[in-house]
Amino acid sequence: VKTLRQLGERGLIERLRRLLPRGRGVVAGIGDDCAVVRAGRGRLLLLKTDAVVEGVHFDKRATPHQIGWKAMARALSDIAAMAGRPRWALVTAGLREDTAARTIAGIYRGLAAAAGRFGARIVGGETVRAPGPFWLSVALAGEVEPRHLRLRSGARAGDAIFVTGTLGGSIQGKHLAFTPRIREAQWLVRHAPVRAMIDISDGLARDLGHLCRASRVGATLSAPAIPMSPPAGGCLQRALDDGEDFELLFTTPAAAAGKLLSAWRQAFPELRLTRIGAITRGGGILLGDELGHTRKLHESGYDHFQPSHA
Ligand SMILES: [Mg+2]
Repeated sequence: VKTLRQLGERGLIERLRRLLPRGRGVVAGIGDDCAVVRAGRGRLLLLKTDAVVEGVHFDKRATPHQIGWKAMARALSDIAAMAGRPRWALVTAGLREDTAARTIAGIYRGLAAAAGRFGARIVGGETVRAPGPFWLSVALAGEVEPRHLRLRSGARAGDAIFVTGTLGGSIQGKHLAFTPRIREAQWLVRHAPVRAMIDISDGLARDLGHLCRASRVGATLSAPAIPMSPPAGGCLQRALDDGEDFELLFTTPAAAAGKLLSAWRQAFPELRLTRIGAITRGGGILLGDELGHTRKLHESGYDHFQPSHA
């Protein structure tokens, strides 16, 4: 009998995908950042659910406001990955009966602050008693114009690969206070021929792996180009593997790269955009150094059910 530890998160998702029949009107089901469904009159609805659990996604040092912010911002980041606009959220909270009312208020203020910043509203939900760790689950619906929708599966050999912001060491603090790249994603699909997009939740190596598998392509990353966050401490492996940066990873045709980089600097002078590699025909991801030597990249980012691999 296989356990989740042996199966891993990816193996589990693959099993569930085979188990669950795909309905009519489904544009993208299990296996992208959000589900995409037809909502009638040519409209597309984005559906996402995401949970945070005490001891897994935050610990006792996180403030109630930070916990609420993070729970909502994680789901918002997945709407960003599809270039969508977040609209309506339902929040389910599993709470211990000895939790201070003040703490609950702080959590919901954090949830509402993150939603409100990006034009979404919490319209309902549910509270239940949790005998163990405290948890929050956010269900978020968004909208996207069909011509702006981007999936993981659109990358083609020869595309340039880009990443927003800097990577690594998010656990030092960014994971509780990050800005989902909603505005940047909406700008991108209007100003650049973005072909495939994903947000970085499990680490650059692993999320690029997801994008490449969905697109049936490979990639070569340039190690010196990878933008490292100060808390990564100059450690390339952390920039490749650390999760929860919630930056955007996307591809465009290589010929569009130069124009995109200069337009980006005008539009978002505070946020880096870096070209970090190229999509290739072959499977797998290679990492190239300054001298042109390449090695195969192991997708060793975060897996919920195989913590030893993290
Ligand atoms: Mg995602």
